[in-house]
Amino acid sequence: MGSAVTSMKNRASGSGTVQESVQDLDEMWSIVDSWTPKALPSSSCSHLKGWKTVRVFVSSTFGDFHSEREVLIKQVFPELREWCEARNLCLVECDLRWGIPQDTPSSKILATCLGELDRCKQDTYENPLMVILLGERAGWIPDISEVPSEVVEQYHWIPGMSITGMEILHGAYRNSNPNAAFCFRDPSFLGQLPLQELTQYQETGQKALLMQSLKQHVCHRFTAKQILKYKCKVQGKDCTSGSEKVRLGFSCEFTSWILQFLKTRIIETFPGHTEAFSETEKPSWEQTEETQHQLFLQQRCQLFLGRDLEVQRILEFLQVEFKDSTQQINCVVTEAEGGVKLPCTPVLQIISEPGMGKSSLLAACLMRAVEIPNMSVFYHFTGCCPSSAQLSNLAMRVCCHVLPAGPEREDVMQRLRDCSRNEDLKEVMRQILKSSPVSPNKTLCLFIDAVNQLSNPRDVSDLLSWLTTDGFLPPSCRCVFSSTITNAHSPFSLQLELLSPQSSQELAVKFLSRYSKLLCLMHCSPEGGIERDLCGALSELEGGPDIPPLHWVALRRTLGCLLRLGQDHRGRDTLSFFHGSVVKAIELSLLQTEASRQPYLSSMSSYYEHRCSDDMTVVSQLPRLLQEAKLGERLIHFLRKDPRALCIPAQMRAQYMKVLRCSQVCRDGFPRSPALLCSFCSLKTRAFGQLFLNKQSCVVCGATVMINEREAFLCPQHFRHGVSECLVCKTPILGPNKPSPGLLCNFCGFSQTCITIKL
Ligand SMILES: [Zn+2]
Ligand SMILES: [Zn+2]
Ligand SMILES: [Zn+2]
Repeated sequence: MGSAVTSMKNRASGSGTVQESVQDLDEMWSIVDSWTPKALPSSSCSHLKGWKTVRVFVSSTFGDFHSEREVLIKQVFPELREWCEARNLCLVECDLRWGIPQDTPSSKILATCLGELDRCKQDTYENPLMVILLGERAGWIPDISEVPSEVVEQYHWIPGMSITGMEILHGAYRNSNPNAAFCFRDPSFLGQLPLQELTQYQETGQKALLMQSLKQHVCHRFTAKQILKYKCKVQGKDCTSGSEKVRLGFSCEFTSWILQFLKTRIIETFPGHTEAFSETEKPSWEQTEETQHQLFLQQRCQLFLGRDLEVQRILEFLQVEFKDSTQQINCVVTEAEGGVKLPCTPVLQIISEPGMGKSSLLAACLMRAVEIPNMSVFYHFTGCCPSSAQLSNLAMRVCCHVLPAGPEREDVMQRLRDCSRNEDLKEVMRQILKSSPVSPNKTLCLFIDAVNQLSNPRDVSDLLSWLTTDGFLPPSCRCVFSSTITNAHSPFSLQLELLSPQSSQELAVKFLSRYSKLLCLMHCSPEGGIERDLCGALSELEGGPDIPPLHWVALRRTLGCLLRLGQDHRGRDTLSFFHGSVVKAIELSLLQTEASRQPYLSSMSSYYEHRCSDDMTVVSQLPRLLQEAKLGERLIHFLRKDPRALCIPAQMRAQYMKVLRCSQVCRDGFPRSPALLCSFCSLKTRAFGQLFLNKQSCVVCGATVMINEREAFLCPQHFRHGVSECLVCKTPILGPNKPSPGLLCNFCGFSQTCITIKL
């Protein structure tokens, strides 16, 4: 039906004969069908347990599908996100055409859209989850001269194809992607449209034929299970976005079909996440730990630079025969290469300043070591997650690696938990390593990254000394560790030198000036940030609305050589610097003074305070940022009044407050005066905190004090005019009504200084 109408129009407008156009299209499709994509290696994440990222790519022409996209954003994705989170999956929707700015160069749009589709492919073993909306419009067909040559080559661009069409070819058609949902909109509603709107929804001529052939080919290649044909009705006008648009309404079949399709395909693609996790099915302790180290390993491996010689030496070290600890061997690794005999302990240290790529080197070696036959590789990246900085955590992870699951392991784990002294820990660890049931010709290889980052300095020195103690590591074992601190007793060591300083400087000049804003923001969270948060903070910094997704993705792609894309333990996309020298370069060129950091810290804080929807992240980031930005008043307001701050442990809140307090000592025997509340204010609430009467609240942090309270005092400087004033209303305390003493909680009372807050 549609074709008759369009060919009539086609003929009328005189744009070539129908016969020719059809031939062109046939030729085009024969090119499409003649090319099969190369099989790419499947994603390396397949063995990961724990959280995973699920990306859904939305593809459609833009101007005529705003109603559908709105339904996706407001109804389909929120429900799907909840469903995913119950299964330890993190949903990310990629809808790049949303809010695309007018002046964006076409080359940028093409490369960004297809590049993002590639990213979706990676996570789903080459079959990206897609929602493809098709109507009567073909959308933008770039002239082949507008398409950058690398895009033509990489995506096998078909001249005369639209950008939406190319997304369909690349993401779904060529690889017969079972995860693509095609939604065909029935054109019957077009008759309800006013004439001037019709051009927004319908093509004529060659473009109409292109759409028709695209749909035909889709129907031919994909089964009915992947295709939804839906109807819609014109429901009036929508003026919310500034320009007037036609609003379409759908039956609930539209949303329910898409939801059902995506859920089914997600289950199929991530078989480990079929059921919602109940408490008992949650990943075990060691699985959760393991996942965090694995994620870190993957991130470090992504961009490893040079250092071939070092890798080779470390691998040689792993395979040298160590008979027992009294034997002497030729050292293959240290500077003492001239055949000097050294006492043998199978430990190699990698030493360098921070930021020289120790972790990446270790990760690269580790990946190679796994391939050596008869080698059982254990790795621990100190600092990759908070628990990893505990020595006992390292010991427990070694235990889980070496001993098979069972009552015996449980027993040893309990002993490790019970260890109160490092000496005991050492003994249990020694036994674990010794009793390792690894067969005689199998080598246990321990990689420990950043020993110096263990949270307790005592643990650092203890671990370093154990590793080189005779008999701690059995001869069949190898250990490679990295640290900024040299262990004088370690027989083998490798000193890392800076990678060519010139090249890092060039990088800096080239990129820093243009993309400095994002880099400076990232500098505020040294351990890396969640992508969504960084994007939000950048909008905050620019004082505008949210940054269009396409712009953000393009920015991230341009900075790709400086940044590492990763995921946190909840599957959220993260960005961090891939090398410490980048951090240094940013500091030197952009953030030398405190004043230059201020705007970044301040917009990061504002983002977390007002825009971020994840309370856990807010609580972990905001107080630190406010403190660093010296925004004392906002810090106090947040800690005392914001309900989100209630879940920060009291001890931590007290620590933040302590920095803001007057440092005059007010211990017993020092000049001091009691801090008082007038009888009126003492019975009111919320002067210091959120919950209880003022006389029952810590006058510093606002915590409720019922037991262990201490009295609060003021130093002579803050005890003005020698008259007692009420802490809250500041009026002198006179008259017959007895004032109440201001109280401190256990934590705030610990530092016996004046309680005045200096802002
Ligand atoms: Zn307190
Ligand atoms: Zn004071
Ligand atoms: Zn008062």
